Amino acid sequence: MIVTRFAPSPTGLLHPGHAFSALFAWHAAHAAGGRFLLRIEDIDATRCRPEFEQAIVEDLAWLGLDWERPVRRQSEHMAAYRACVARLEARGLVYPCFCTRAAIRAEIARAGAAPHGPEGPVYPGTCRSLPAAEGARRIAAGEPYALRLDVARACAETGPLAWHDRARGTIAADPASFGDVVIARKEIPTSYHLAVTHDDHVQGVTLVTRGEDLFAATHIHRLLQALLGFATPDYHHHPLVAAPDGARLAKRAGAPSLRSLREAGLTPADIRAMVGL
Ligand code: GLU
Repeated sequence: MIVTRFAPSPTGLLHPGHAFSALFAWHAAHAAGGRFLLRIEDIDATRCRPEFEQAIVEDLAWLGLDWERPVRRQSEHMAAYRACVARLEARGLVYPCFCTRAAIRAEIARAGAAPHGPEGPVYPGTCRSLPAAEGARRIAAGEPYALRLDVARACAETGPLAWHDRARGTIAADPASFGDVVIARKEIPTSYHLAVTHDDHVQGVTLVTRGEDLFAATHIHRLLQALLGFATPDYHHHPLVAAPDGARLAKRAGAPSLRSLREAGLTPADIRAMVGL
């Protein structure tokens, strides 16, 4: 049974690009007699708003989509994410990182260069070699810290990994290109990577469909699956919707919201035609 999901973050109104992703996932499930889930990715309380979640639900219903209830809301599952991090910590795969963004920038400048990963310059590993006692002392003193995955050590544990992408075939995972990713943020006990991987597993998602902009993230997700004993779904990273002039109908960048298009008189059929689904 195919299970797909649409997993927006309620940080703003949905745009036609989101409509494409949601319709794509819904069709992939329905074409195969499968199930479609909606998941609200609201780990970042400073950026997420209940009114945007409400708008997401209304806009998707207006588009003609339906989904299973109850809807999973990530903010309600912090204890589960914490438990995953603790499992990695117990195996020595995670270390506290006290660096500020400015300190990381300065360290990279001092070193002259840093490899560029999918999320920007790769973390130079400043806190990786911090003695455990010093880390513990700084934590006890109340210094804010994130938790980073020691990716080299993690990869040594798992060996080579791959996943299957419906658009691109078999992909060899290259998590090292990210460097030591943050898996729990300073103010949040998880990161996007950990929460999304955990949830796709516990919700039984068998086919992750999402935009090509998230293709690289799958390198890390595959590693987390292997480390945590999660199932590996199939993937389908789809092209991002382009506006008639070829510009990306981005989530940000001044694209019109579905709501404003609807208020301007467009119908759900117009939106489907606009995104080509
Ligand atoms: N919540 C993510 C976003 O809004 C998408 C997560 C995913 O599909 O993996 O960009």
